[in-house]
Amino acid sequence: MSDEQPTGGRVGVFGGTFDPLHIGHLMIALEVRHALQLDRMTLVVANDPWQKAGTGVTSAEARLELTRAGVDEINARIGSPVIEVSDAEIRRGGETYTADTLEEMKAHDPTVELFLLVGSDAAAGLPTWKRPDRVRALATTVVVERGGRVGGRPPDDWPHLVIDVPLMEVSSSDLRQRFADGRPVEAFVPPAVIDRIRRLGLYGSTS
Ligand code: ATP
Repeated sequence: MSDEQPTGGRVGVFGGTFDPLHIGHLMIALEVRHALQLDRMTLVVANDPWQKAGTGVTSAEARLELTRAGVDEINARIGSPVIEVSDAEIRRGGETYTADTLEEMKAHDPTVELFLLVGSDAAAGLPTWKRPDRVRALATTVVVERGGRVGGRPPDDWPHLVIDVPLMEVSSSDLRQRFADGRPVEAFVPPAVIDRIRRLGLYGSTS
């Protein structure tokens, strides 16, 4: 993040591939921010997600551009820059580890209080992440649960909050297929993101 970013406060950290950003991602960012009264929510665009290695992910630069476009649009609609986009993992390059990202955010701004969003599908696996003790120490873990379900949880000795968000059946993989097939995407993807996707010719889309 640049030096112009505001500092301090309660900040959510929401990592993802964002290939592409969709309304499910924005919904989570806004719901969790509201529920925990966070000052800002930072979408961290993954560079080289080790979980998805070898699956042919869209270039980090293109995913960053799409994410920025969608975030600018929703911030303008809200009238305040409540969501930020971080390119920290892309700038660092190589494989992406949350512990490194949290450390960098704390080093950049030691007064910030971090809240790490984790889907309930990933929560039980937290101890297998790289340097899990640093992940646990640097941020409050927030398990994001969908539509009142009770999914996975971190181990008992891992402090965490649980925030329930509405169930929204939208995924980036389905959307990539929709673009490729020429099926409707307008209800799922912010307009500015659709414009960029078509301009960049991503996902087999045509303008
Ligand atoms: P793909 O379909 O390519 O796996 P995705 O949208 O599930 O894409 P990411 O872009 O990495 O994957 O998503 C970032 C985070 O957002 C993940 O933790 C994922 O669980 C969560 N997420 C994605 N879509 C939704 C949704 N519709 N509702 C709630 N959480 C979601």
